[in-house]
Amino acid sequence: MCLICFEFNKKRMTIEEVKRALPEMITFAKSEDEKAHFKKLQSATNQEELEEETKKHTDSNLKK
Ligand SMILES: [Zn+2]
Repeated sequence: MCLICFEFNKKRMTIEEVKRALPEMITFAKSEDEKAHFKKLQSATNQEELEEETKKHTDSNLKK
């Protein structure tokens, strides 16, 4: 799973920290899927939206 989602869900990162890290994450994304995911996180405007997207990602990764 990606570090951003993991850290955010563990409450070790704030929304501000996530937003600050995202441009770099997008630049170094390994795939288009990953890039799209980071862009989605970037477009989240509040805590709830960000939580929803990170939760989706951590859940899908746990199932693999
Ligand atoms: Zn993620």
